[in-house]
This record gives sequence, structure tokens and C-alpha cells, in this order.
Amino acid sequence: RAEIGKLKTLVPEVDEMLGGGMETQSITETYGEFGSGKSQFTHQLAVNVQLPEEHGGLEKSAIFIDTEDTFRPERIAQMVKGLDGEILADLLRRDLDMGKEDVEEVELGEDLEDLPEETDEVLDDLVDEFLERVHVAKAFNSNHQILLAEEARDMADELEDSEFPVGLLAIDSLTAHFRAEYVGRGNLANRQQKLNKHMHDILRVASLHNAAAVVTNQVQSNPDSMFGDPTKPVGGNILGHTSTFRIYIRKSKKDKRIIKLVDSPNLPDGESVLRITEEGLKP
Ligand code: ATP
Repeated sequence: RAEIGKLKTLVPEVDEMLGGGMETQSITETYGEFGSGKSQFTHQLAVNVQLPEEHGGLEKSAIFIDTEDTFRPERIAQMVKGLDGEILADLLRRDLDMGKEDVEEVELGEDLEDLPEETDEVLDDLVDEFLERVHVAKAFNSNHQILLAEEARDMADELEDSEFPVGLLAIDSLTAHFRAEYVGRGNLANRQQKLNKHMHDILRVASLHNAAAVVTNQVQSNPDSMFGDPTKPVGGNILGHTSTFRIYIRKSKKDKRIIKLVDSPNLPDGESVLRITEEGLKP
């Protein structure tokens, strides 16, 4: 069994709270209200997973199962361009080492500030590379979503010996289709059974390929809701033993978000802060 890897958010306070980052071979659930930033989190991880290990990534690719049409390539582009100057310069240098022609004319300075104007084009090429390594599939309903997770397994198998094997399986949102389709008490058991199987399919990809799995889940936004505690994810603790980390995201002032680690089996509960900016998740 491969050693457990850590996928970083690259927000030091958050990564520290997570004991170094999100773990591979398990599922991390991020939950929060509408607009809290769950999709932003997921997009950022799809970028970070591709980074070299010394920069907090796994040097692998991502599979993104998109159930609510939230995936935005433009957002990935912003986040790649918004990476720390030091990381960006290093990535461009690597392309240069690999003899990529369009990078060759560029004299790389210590910091991006020092880079000449052609850098824009080179950066666009880099963005394209990142986008090619986010394999996006849209799920039209829950059965389709289940099918896509099964196909993710085949894809991960196929990419296993490639330059960028699968290092992240993201499902955004895990629960939306299920909630919409299995309405009412009479359907709860059935929904739970389907979700359980789905989770195990996801976990299997994570285990077999030493990949991180991240799923999003919404919470009730109405504190007076008959469903009780607004900070509890819909459907209760749907993930049970399959998830290592459960991360609650809450809006704070302006672009700030409070990230809370809940019920971790091996880490103390904790809170940390990040900002959602044009450049991505930042301290
Ligand atoms: P939902 O449950 O509706 O899917 P969510 O938790 O996934 O919501 P996100 O879509 O991840 O929420 O977050 C949306 C928020 O992220 C916006 O309200 C905004 O604050 C921030 N955001 C999105 N794009 C940008 C950007 N380009 N620059 C700065 N902030 C952004």
C-alpha cells in the first residue's frame, strides 16, 4: 500500500489544521451554505494536485464530476495565474527544461515581476496544460453521477502509467441530485443505500490510486429550518466511516471564510481562516 499523500490548499493555516493537507486514500467532505465557497475550494484543489510535491501538490491530474454546472475553466485559469510567483516561475522553468519552444525566449527572473512581456503567452500555455489535466464530466442525474464515478475508476486505471495519473477525484456536489430525486421520508433508505454504494466507488478509486477524493455537500441555509441545526450537512453524517476529514466552510467578513475541521478521527477539531480572491484561495 502506497504511503498516504497530502494535498495542500496552500493556505498554511488551513494545511496545518489538516495535519499537512488533505489525505489521499480517503474522502474529504466539504460542506457549507450556498455560496460559502465549496466549489472554489474544489477548483483550487484541481489546480494544486498538479503541482510538484515540493510545492504542495501530488504532480497528478484531476477528475471533476460536475453535477450543478459549476465547473468554470476561466476560474482554473485565474487560479493558475494566481499561484505564488515562486511556484509559477518554477513551473515555467520546468517547461523550459523540457525544451518547450515558446518558453525558450523567456528569460526567467527570480520572481514573476521580473518576467518579460512574452510571459502572458507562456502563461496561457501553462493554463492550457492545467486545463488538460482536469477531466470534467457533467452528471445529469444521480444515476448518471453513479455511472461517472464507475467510469472514473476506468479512467484512473488507464492513466495509472501516464505522466499524470489521477490524484484527485472531486464530486461537486455529491448530494444535490440525490436530494432532488429522492424526496420524502419513504425514499430516505433508498437514497442512503445508493449514496453509500456511490461513496464506496469513490473511496475505491482513492485507495487504489493513492488519490485524494473531495466531495461537496450543502447545509440548510435557514437557521429556523425544521431540519434543525444549520451547521449539520444535509442528510446527517452521510459519509460515515468513509471520510477522514469533514470541513465546514462558513462565510465571514468580505472575502474571508472560516474553515472548520469537524470530527476528525486523528486530529483535534480546529478553525482557520482563508480568503477567496480572484487569484484563488489565499491566506
Ligand atoms: P453552492 O452551494 O451554491 O454551489 P458554493 O459553496 O459552491 O455554493 P462557491 O460557488 O464555491 O460556493 O463560492 C462562490 C463565492 O466565491 C462567491 O460568492 C464569491 O465570494 C467567491 N468567488 C467566486 N469567484 C470569484 C472570483 N473570480 N474572485 C473572487 N471571488 C470569487
